[in-house]
Amino acid sequence: MDLQNYIRDIQDFPKPGIIFKDITPLLANPQATRFCVEQLLSQLQNVKIDKVIGAESRGFFFATLLAQKLNAGFVPVRKPKKLPFETIAASYDLEYGTDTLEIHKDAIKKGEKVLIHDDVLATGGTAKGMCELVENLGGEIVQCNFLMELTFLSGIEKLQPYKVFSVIKY
Ligand code: AMP
Repeated sequence: MDLQNYIRDIQDFPKPGIIFKDITPLLANPQATRFCVEQLLSQLQNVKIDKVIGAESRGFFFATLLAQKLNAGFVPVRKPKKLPFETIAASYDLEYGTDTLEIHKDAIKKGEKVLIHDDVLATGGTAKGMCELVENLGGEIVQCNFLMELTFLSGIEKLQPYKVFSVIKY
């Protein structure tokens, strides 16, 4: 199955110069969604995962599906002031300036094996921030996986030495 048929390019969204990778056609198609989950799981054979961490908001869709299949818990990482319980925060670099992510401070126990998931790996700042949050809580990162990697932005370099897998590379 060619998953690229289910990813819609939106020019200049949310701002000029960005080609936004819209996954709503993929999410609307159960066969394509199932295929995508299978591809992501293919790199996690016989690997124990305790928690799957998804990034707000498009990371949530597949992170919850993966967590179910892996018999793991799902944990959301969100923008500041969205999570109701006590949180810890990590700041990460954007093209201009910085942004912050938060996680509940009881979301991961020391030594738990963690899978990081997001829809797109672009500059890598978001995923790196998620890794920092997980490690600050004592979790161990097993892999970072993505539906798409925008290779021309070299985000993978920020994620060394973690294992990284992306279903589609642009
Ligand atoms: P980055 O931190 O630069 O790796 O950006 C990754 C985050 O921004 C992910 O949560 C993506 O959902 C979002 N993102 C970045 N670039 C795109 C894009 N071209 N299309 C869709 N989402 C994107």
